Amino acid sequence: MELIVSIIMIGIMIWFVFYLLSIIWPLLLALAIAFVAWKIYELFYYKSAKFTEIKERIVTYINECNDLNEHIESLKNTDLISNKADYGNASYHDASKLNYKRKHLKEEQKYAPNVHHCSRTVCSNAQNKPFEYVCKYFGIKADEKTLSNFESILNNFDAAEEGKEHLQAEKEKILHSIENDVPFLIKKFSKKKLEQHLGFEEVDMSTAYFPKYVFEYVSSGGNASMNCDVVMDIENLNKFVVFLSEKIKFNKSVAGQRALMTSKLRQHIKERDNFTCKQCGASVEQEPHLLLEIDHIIPVSKGGLTTEDNLQTLCWRCNRSKGAKIQ
Ligand SMILES: [Zn+2]
Repeated sequence: MELIVSIIMIGIMIWFVFYLLSIIWPLLLALAIAFVAWKIYELFYYKSAKFTEIKERIVTYINECNDLNEHIESLKNTDLISNKADYGNASYHDASKLNYKRKHLKEEQKYAPNVHHCSRTVCSNAQNKPFEYVCKYFGIKADEKTLSNFESILNNFDAAEEGKEHLQAEKEKILHSIENDVPFLIKKFSKKKLEQHLGFEEVDMSTAYFPKYVFEYVSSGGNASMNCDVVMDIENLNKFVVFLSEKIKFNKSVAGQRALMTSKLRQHIKERDNFTCKQCGASVEQEPHLLLEIDHIIPVSKGGLTTEDNLQTLCWRCNRSKGAKIQ
C-alpha cells in the first residue's frame, strides 16, 4: 500500500515539474540567448583595440601592484622559514613543504595549524593561560632568539596586513581612473574578469596565514571533544612578544636594554620619520597608499639591536632590495 502511495506521489511530482517547464521554457530560452550574447560581447570587448589601449596605458601601475602583492605574500611566509627549527613540531613541517607552491593552493593546506592532542585538563587550562601552554606544549623556548623571531614575524605580518589595505586602495584608484573608458555593462557584470584581463593578480585578503596552535581533546570513545585554538594574529603577536620578554626577564633577571618591536613602536618610528622612506625619500604625502616598513639599520642577524636609533622607516621597495642584498 505504502509503495503504491509513494509511486503516485512521485508521479504527481514528475508531472508537476513538466507542467512548470512547459510554462517557463520560453523564459529559459530567452535567458539562454541573452547569456550567449553577453558572453560573445564580453569576449569581443576584451580582444578589442580599445581595451588593449586602456590596458597599455596603465600597465606600469598594474605591475607595481603585482610586485607589492608578491612582496606581501613573501612577508606572510616569514615564520615558516626562519622559525621552523624552534617549533620542533611536525605540523609546521607540512606547512613549510608547501611553502614554495603557495599560490592557488587551498588555504588549509597552505597554513596547516599546529595541533596538540591532549587531556581535557590541559585543553581547558590552555584556555585560561594560552601563551604559557603554547610555549610548554609546542616547544617554544622563551629566549632572546625566539623573542626576536616573533618580533620579526610581527613586524612582517603587520606590514602584510597594512600592505593588503594599501594594495586594495591602489587597485580601486587605478580602476577608478579608467572608469569612464569602460562600457557600463562590463563594469557592472564583469568586474572580476575586467581585473583579470587588465593583468591584476588576485589579492589574498584572508588572514588564514596567521600561525595557529590548537589544543585538542577527544574522549576515548570519540563522543566528547574540546578544542582550544590560539591564533597568533596581530593582537596576539603583540601580546606574545611582551609575554616572552617578561618571561625572559623573569627567568634570567637580566632586564633587556632594548625596546620591543611591537605595532606601537612601528607606528612611533613612522611618525618620527615623518612617514617618509629614509632611503629614497618617497612619502605618504606623495603616495597615499605607499606601504612603509620598519627596518633595522644594522640587522638583528649582525648584532643590531631594536633600539630607536637602529630603526628606520623604509618604503617596501627599498626594504625589499635591502633584504635581497643582505641575503
Ligand atoms: Zn624607499
